[in-house]
Amino acid sequence: MSRQTARIPPTTQRVASRELYWERRSMPTRGRGLSSCTPAFYRSTMPASSPSSRQNLLLIGGGHAHLEVFRAFHEQPPENCKITLLVDQPTAVYSGMVPGFLAGQYQEDALSFDLRKWAQAMGAQLVLGRAVGMDLDAREVELADGMRMSYDLCSWNIGSAVVGLDVPGVREFALATRPIGDFAQQAIPRLRDAIRLRGKNPLRILVVGGGAAGMEIAFCLDHRALQEHGVKPETTVLYSSHTLLPNADFPLQNAVMRQIKRRGLKFRHGQKIVALHEGEAETWNGERIPFDLCIWATGADAHLADGWIPVGPSLQVENHPEVFAVGDCAHLTYAPNTPKAGVYAVRQGPVLERNLRAMLRGHPMRLYQPQDDFLTLLNLGDGRAVGAKFGATFTGKWVMWMKDWIDRRFMRKYQTRSIR
Ligand SMILES: Cc1cc2nc3c(=O)[nH]c(=O)nc-3n(C[C@H](O)[C@H](O)[C@H](O)COP(=O)(O)OP(=O)(O)OC[C@H]3O[C@@H](n4cnc5c(N)ncnc54)[C@H](O)[C@@H]3O)c2cc1C
Repeated sequence: MSRQTARIPPTTQRVASRELYWERRSMPTRGRGLSSCTPAFYRSTMPASSPSSRQNLLLIGGGHAHLEVFRAFHEQPPENCKITLLVDQPTAVYSGMVPGFLAGQYQEDALSFDLRKWAQAMGAQLVLGRAVGMDLDAREVELADGMRMSYDLCSWNIGSAVVGLDVPGVREFALATRPIGDFAQQAIPRLRDAIRLRGKNPLRILVVGGGAAGMEIAFCLDHRALQEHGVKPETTVLYSSHTLLPNADFPLQNAVMRQIKRRGLKFRHGQKIVALHEGEAETWNGERIPFDLCIWATGADAHLADGWIPVGPSLQVENHPEVFAVGDCAHLTYAPNTPKAGVYAVRQGPVLERNLRAMLRGHPMRLYQPQDDFLTLLNLGDGRAVGAKFGATFTGKWVMWMKDWIDRRFMRKYQTRSIR
């Protein structure tokens, strides 16, 4: 196409100026009832839709926030609106239960959402394809196969990729945690292959990444390998930061470190992998670490070439109120340190759903304020979990019971079995 593509404004370089932008409009700050405000700024930027025109709503991705949109639109369909759901895979997987699946606590169907059924339930058209970019001026989404889809109103909830997939050998010799569905599908077959090749020798599992996902995967795979192989594996967690769980408070880091020692896992901090070879990881200082199974769990990276999609408190792209973004793929310009975690996407769901309806009706927007703290629950794979909230930590079977109850409740709400 010869037309100039209006790219998504790059996130990182613009953050500082965007913060000023919001400030100049005297936006309410954290903790001052942001979610109930409807400042004139938002009202004035919304295009008034004529009641007779049928709007073309494009939902991209089947992430946590969109699940709430699917559920609510199924219960009460929006008026004057044709919905299209664009997803790269017909099934979405709930990452919160993936470690438990690795440990053998859940079957695959317990953690997946049927997006075909949700599309059907909403009366939406389902398109299978991978969105790779967007032309804001033309109001078109670009697909990996070169196709373009037009929209009047669109919402992105496509999650994230994994950092460092371009490190030599990673795609070939490691299993990355994203896409999460592929990871869940391939992890146990790969574990079994590795066990078969090892014979009676202990399996060497290397998990690269010391965040919450990396830690849960290490504990759960370690447990599963012991169950399947009967030989205690040598599981190592390697991370570039100086502490594990670098975004967590000290008490949680401490509690997890105690479990690492108790379970006999190894850890390597301040290490960076520069290349993976067959059966070996090469660190920045030239050391070679042997492995039979390497999991790449290094944190979130943007799917789109233009990076994260910058949005304001109404979850809309600045100057493009017809474009929303939520979950990992969105960068909250007014709360730039918000972690990439599903709990935020879940809370954005109801705000997004109301704002999409409000856009269709020309009503004011609701504002989303990320929570300051949330309950962290890490599955240890052996029937116990570690939890943390408000700086306190707790460990045990009852913590796993609580995690299981919360996760199953979430699944009951959003699996299509709940469709009436
Ligand atoms: C092993 C593991 C465990 C985790 N556990 C937790 C936890 O317990 N709690 C927590 O808060 N966070 C957890 N996280 C982080 C969490 O997974 C993410 O923050 C969360 O999934 C982001 O949700 P989302 O709604 O943005 O998108 P996702 O839930 O990732 O959904 C993205 C959707 O978009 C689709 N999609 C992707 N790319 C495209 C594309 N280009 N075009 C069209 N469709 C696309 C996908 O198929 C999927 O349907 C975990 C992560 C991992 C890896």
